[in-house]
Amino acid sequence: MLEALNPQPQDKILQLIALYREDKRTTKIDLGVGVYKDPTGLTPVMRAVKAAEKKLWEVETTKTYTGLAGEPAYNSALVKMILGETDRAASVATPGGTGAIRQALELVKLATPGATVWLSAPTWPNHPSIIKFLGMKMAEYRYFDAATCGVDFEGMKADLAKVAPGDVVLLHGCCHNPTGANLTQAQWAETVAILQKQGAVPFVDLAYQGFGDGLEEDAAATRLIAASFPEVLIAASCSKNFGIYRERTGILIALTSPDRKAVVQGNLNFLNRQNFSFPPDHGARLVTMILEDEALTADWKAELEEVRLNMLTLRQSLADALRKLTNSDRYDFVATHRGMFSRLGLTEAQVLRLREEHAIYMVGDSRINIAGLNAQTVPILAQAIVAVGG
Ligand code: PMP
Repeated sequence: MLEALNPQPQDKILQLIALYREDKRTTKIDLGVGVYKDPTGLTPVMRAVKAAEKKLWEVETTKTYTGLAGEPAYNSALVKMILGETDRAASVATPGGTGAIRQALELVKLATPGATVWLSAPTWPNHPSIIKFLGMKMAEYRYFDAATCGVDFEGMKADLAKVAPGDVVLLHGCCHNPTGANLTQAQWAETVAILQKQGAVPFVDLAYQGFGDGLEEDAAATRLIAASFPEVLIAASCSKNFGIYRERTGILIALTSPDRKAVVQGNLNFLNRQNFSFPPDHGARLVTMILEDEALTADWKAELEEVRLNMLTLRQSLADALRKLTNSDRYDFVATHRGMFSRLGLTEAQVLRLREEHAIYMVGDSRINIAGLNAQTVPILAQAIVAVGG
């Protein structure tokens, strides 16, 4: 049986990590992998997470199964953090944001097997990969303008005007991955109007709340969408904003009318049951403990804000360094992009030269992880970009 299997394509980022590991140069810089790193290069366990873990060890009396949808307290705390108060939310805890995306797509398939899922071009590669795996239809809307490294909003609007009623449109709620380019509030409002006119179902991927303009600010587009459509899917991740990547902590929220809520919830529970039964609990419990405790919430928010501001400082200093070296404003977009990533607009050949000649590792499409930099490496990267003709 197993000899019938074909090799799967290697994940580009994992390949890059392997190359980086093998590189013997001590000056090497990793801007590839998508995890936050502090100025010393560590991905720390956040203080509030440590405190919650210690408390959990003391108070936890059982590890028996939770509910299929997760602990109700987790779901309500996260729904509140993302949307504020709402009584329209059915939700399930999931293994990370990826699990939430997978369950959302399976829900779409269950409800409307013929629906097309629209993705931004480019998007996080796991989106098309899961859609393809599930055998669903997929289409792209223009998003990134390679000339400005900003959003190609005219192209995006033109493409979204072709969405058919009932199609699902996947939007990055904030901090677009891989580009770092995001819609303005006015552009979000226009996007909402187009999608309403087309009768689309918005599906928001919210993986970086708190990494862009702030915890509340980063939820603004999701909240606008929630208030504007009868049905919305939201896949959110706690991997980044709580720094609990390996705990696999996410949530799928389906907004619906109060009279459909019980059936939708039943279908979400059903999907969890089919795929893995009970969702992971440890990370979800830590998040709940933090969000239900005023002091822990305050400490978590303060540390998240340090993380966000550190990335903003790095953005500004890279943009400044490139402005000086190129004597132009063409890299100013680095400072206006938000989140952990920026696509620099370099060619694959330039990305390869950066790796081979300068030991600087980034994804082939020239996406960099801003958090992979520090005050010492910003000028090194800026000089290398100019040296390869960027
Ligand atoms: N969506 C996007 C856009 C992401 O970048 C990520 C993480 N790389 C995720 C979802 C899912 O993250 P996780 O499954 O680790 O929670």
